[in-house]
Amino acid sequence: KVAEMNEQPAGPSVPVLQAASSKLPCKPARKVEARLKLPILAEEQVIMEAINENPIVIICGETGSGKTTQVPQFLYEAGYSSSAGAIGITEPRRVAAVSMSQRVAKEMNLSKRVVSYQIRYEGNVTDETQIKFMTDGVLLKEIQKDFLLSKYKVVIIDEAHERSMYTDILIGLLSRIVPLREKKGLPLKLIIMSATLRVEDFTDNNKLFSVTPPVIQVDARQFPVTVHFNKKTPLDDYSGECFRKVCKIHRMLPSGGILVFLTGQAEVHSLCRRLRKAFPFQKNNTADDDKGESVEEMRKFKKSRKQKKVMALPKIDLDNYSVVPVDEGDEDRDAETDDDMAGSDIDLDLGDGDSEEDEKSDSSLPLYVLPLYSLLAPEKQAKVFRPPPPGTRLCVVATNVAETSLTIPGIKYVVDCGKVKKRFYDKITGVSSFRITWISQASANQRAGRAGRTEPGHCYRLYSSAVFMDFEKFSAPEITKRPVEDLILQMKALNIEKVINFPFPTPPPTEALAAAEELLIALGALKEPPMTGRLKQQLAAKLSCPISPLGRIMATFPVAPRYAKMLALSRQHDCLPYTITIVSAMTVRELFEELDRPAVSEEETAELKGKKARFLQIQRIWAGQGSMQKLGDLMVMLGAVGACEYAGCTRKFCEENGLRYKAMLEIRRLRGQLTTAVNSVCTDAGLYVDPKMKPPTEAQATYLRQIVLAGLGDHVARRVQAEELLDDKWKNAYKTALLDDPVFIHPSSVLFKQLPEFVVYQEIVETTKLYMKGVSAVEPEWIPALLPPYCHFGKPLENPPPSYCPETGRVRCHRPSVFYRVSWQLPAVEV
Ligand code: ADP
Ligand code: MG
Repeated sequence: KVAEMNEQPAGPSVPVLQAASSKLPCKPARKVEARLKLPILAEEQVIMEAINENPIVIICGETGSGKTTQVPQFLYEAGYSSSAGAIGITEPRRVAAVSMSQRVAKEMNLSKRVVSYQIRYEGNVTDETQIKFMTDGVLLKEIQKDFLLSKYKVVIIDEAHERSMYTDILIGLLSRIVPLREKKGLPLKLIIMSATLRVEDFTDNNKLFSVTPPVIQVDARQFPVTVHFNKKTPLDDYSGECFRKVCKIHRMLPSGGILVFLTGQAEVHSLCRRLRKAFPFQKNNTADDDKGESVEEMRKFKKSRKQKKVMALPKIDLDNYSVVPVDEGDEDRDAETDDDMAGSDIDLDLGDGDSEEDEKSDSSLPLYVLPLYSLLAPEKQAKVFRPPPPGTRLCVVATNVAETSLTIPGIKYVVDCGKVKKRFYDKITGVSSFRITWISQASANQRAGRAGRTEPGHCYRLYSSAVFMDFEKFSAPEITKRPVEDLILQMKALNIEKVINFPFPTPPPTEALAAAEELLIALGALKEPPMTGRLKQQLAAKLSCPISPLGRIMATFPVAPRYAKMLALSRQHDCLPYTITIVSAMTVRELFEELDRPAVSEEETAELKGKKARFLQIQRIWAGQGSMQKLGDLMVMLGAVGACEYAGCTRKFCEENGLRYKAMLEIRRLRGQLTTAVNSVCTDAGLYVDPKMKPPTEAQATYLRQIVLAGLGDHVARRVQAEELLDDKWKNAYKTALLDDPVFIHPSSVLFKQLPEFVVYQEIVETTKLYMKGVSAVEPEWIPALLPPYCHFGKPLENPPPSYCPETGRVRCHRPSVFYRVSWQLPAVEV
């Protein structure tokens, strides 16, 4: 395995590490006073000795004990850096990477050129950089370029307790890189830092480290926190409940900062607005971050859109495999990003619908309300660390970032809604979506702990103790909860072929690995193993396939492999702008208002009717005839986005035409992001990003159908023919490759009445029946050309079913029950 990983060239040589002397250098006087109080300073000697004597060290310490800000400084002072980027620190969240680099630079009185950060698409790293904060995805990308990470003398993996997928993978990779560097005589130190003591997955894991690394525990001074549970069963309107709780605390309890945990950016802003209204803060910067910031962001946002408008068409060279992956993946894990719509909060009325909203307080003490979430501009984030204006009480309304990544000083009261926004994965389709769920007990306790940093505090949980007891103890590592095809593709791009032998801290289920590998083979991202030898050997070969040239290109796109395949094929015939839009729309989902809902009044009936008529009008203008019509629901998505952008993407237009405004804004954002990603892969191509687009031509629509088929190959369905009808439940039904049961085209689909013989679908939803949504019609003769792994050409059957066609041959899917009839014509698309 090591040999397999060792294939990478060693890269430029690094100066040999000077064993740092065990005598510690004197502390320079420049240290900020606050730093001296941090518990970790008492442990400096122990930590440095452990690091000097061991290649791998684990440091555990309560949030706020000083791990992130101090350990890099210890290392720097002990001489662990000399040339560029000698000390690397990874963070699962972008906000932490940026904010911590700034903090450390300030504490050390060093320039940002020396203490720098790098997150996706952004950073201030220079030749002089010696301490580099980055997201874990950035380091993974660097490993793909230089497996031995020769630039670094120390790598610190921070927030390991979060068990984000990329953190886990990095720890697995580094467990092999460290001994390799040792062998080369250029030792690399690995430090794993965790906010909890739950590190047995790293220590009691003989696959991971040959010698169990020492665990250093930093005892943080923690004051007692009194936890108050709500008596009532939890409410849906937790945001309103937060508001009421903060009002009460502010009116009735002694001074001390308040920290509120909510789930997303829009919620945070909405609560900030309500609180500012209730407790006006009469200073020249009243409500500064709310309106001012949003308007300014909106302006910037619009400006950036304008600037990107005129750009040339893309050129992805399918033969150029030297492109480097851009997918850091950190985007995906940032649950806040769901709401990341600059300025959307201006118009966004969350409709908390609470009569207390406008209630004015009788408290004379102003409340200094600050929002905090991942995508807030760094200068705005920094405000939470500064003392509030004299005579005010600080109230920070935050998302999960305040749980362990950032420690806000002076917090005495915590209000915990008990929820978090998390990404969930659909078992059948693997499509992900954000959902708000209960946190784990460990998270709840972390949140409570934020109240006891400087003096005894209180934590108000907006749920009952019974509900708390039902929370899971810890959240499971991300890697065990999600489909892993994107991860496997990234690993294969690192030439790790036998993924099953990889030293995962917690391995994903074997079935998940096998399913991922199978899908990647089918998509053509992996080279198919030879079908010779014994079945057992064949199976083993199937689990260790090397990456294909197409796979290397797919690995460069920051989307799931199915969608990446679509993008990889789309440079042909100028289809890329359309594919980017389709992929964005499929990711956002639920673009349309439910227009078939029962109306409550006559007015509403008329309104719905009007919307429907206008919506159909859009469809007619966009979807036209022929192939465009056959593109089906995907064409409807394309048309909705196209028409909406043509009208300037206004709320008014969306409401009049039955489109969901928020979804449209989200699609616009994703389109921009994907375009940037594609541009950074293909440095030679400046790609279109004009949000407005013309309808595709008839020919382009045909190509798009083929492209979609190539990506969603495992989602092909064939209508059951009259002569194959087994019984009535199969009437108008389709057979799919994944399910044995009959599935149907969803009544909301534009292809509902047409019943094409072959379709691809985006997802299957189960209501009264199994329904396919996001349906496009495809031509049978494309299937063997675009999806050879899903077909094999058998001998004509002795008693073929009536649909068998001797002239054209027969193709069989993995499941024998699905038969694809094909002709031998060459496909219209070059693959
Ligand atoms: P840990 O990583 O152990 O959770 P940190 O090193 O992040 O701890 O934080 C140590 C202390 O430094 C905390 O008390 C925190 O409030 C303070 N701190 C961190 N960043 C800033 C900042 N930008 N401004 C002021 N104080 C900060
Ligand atoms: Mg930290």
